[in-house]
Amino acid sequence: MAGLASRGRYAPSPTGRFHVGNARTALLAWLAARARGSSFVLRVEDLDAGRTVPGAEAELLADLAWLGLDWDEGPDRGGPVGPYRQSERRARYDAAIVALLAAGRAFPCACSRAEVARAASAPHGPGDEGPRYPGTCRRLPPAEVEARARAAGRLLAIRFAGDGERVFFPDEVHGLVDPLGPEGVDDFVLRRADGVAAYQLAVVVDDAAMGIDEVVRGDDLLPSTPRQIALYRALGLPAPRFAHVPLLLDEGGERLAKRTRPPSLGALREQGAAPENLVGRLAASAGLWPADRPARVRDLLDATAAHLLWPSLDRRPAVWRR
Ligand SMILES: [Zn+2]
Repeated sequence: MAGLASRGRYAPSPTGRFHVGNARTALLAWLAARARGSSFVLRVEDLDAGRTVPGAEAELLADLAWLGLDWDEGPDRGGPVGPYRQSERRARYDAAIVALLAAGRAFPCACSRAEVARAASAPHGPGDEGPRYPGTCRRLPPAEVEARARAAGRLLAIRFAGDGERVFFPDEVHGLVDPLGPEGVDDFVLRRADGVAAYQLAVVVDDAAMGIDEVVRGDDLLPSTPRQIALYRALGLPAPRFAHVPLLLDEGGERLAKRTRPPSLGALREQGAAPENLVGRLAASAGLWPADRPARVRDLLDATAAHLLWPSLDRRPAVWRR
């Protein structure tokens, strides 16, 4: 998408109610894009049908609109680089896998999770990728990998040939980082055995195709970024800039997640809460607004100079007090 003006995005998964922690990241992504005059793209990451909750997408869009956020392209309004739901973009992920296989940067894998866990030397790699893959199928001829899968009654997954590539990158918030350390990029999964493209692949294919030049997301995804940068390189695509923002924690220091039952925007709306109070509170938690002062998103935008947003952001994890 060369030639497009600068573009930001927010890419939520419709897996449950949208909570205040999600709202904080969405607000920062929107503010970063709008402060530099970028288009803002909304993309729904609904690849994992087993985790997608019916009705969650519609509620999510209503929650974002209630906050005051707007977007130029998205599943509800279309746009030039759609579709804007990952479940409708599978052919693109398959095409990327074909290209990576042809370039020798991907390989089929017949291992079960349990086999990977048993064979792995380290108990867990960084991030949510599970145990580091020991390279079993990469050393076997393809026919033998297929025979292993057939014998076990399994379908083949596809893995990236990571080659332990060490990736440093300049994060807008954290500075120069190397989240995977000296072990470098692992042989992470590109497509699961059930045929569903992995997050790492889908997000790279989509951000590139949608011309996104700055990705703002929670810093729980820092370990994913070297993997994604390695994928951009392998696919010959330009990588965007990244800004990983601190997450909102509960009073016990735990990341807000469904199981800790943080307040959802749906519940706040139903209670008649004013969005200005939440927006002001979230912006204050990021060090971008005085405490105890309501704000419309427009007020934040008026008060934000694009080049000062990341330097002004409070890098400490913020705490949500009930
Ligand atoms: Zn394998």
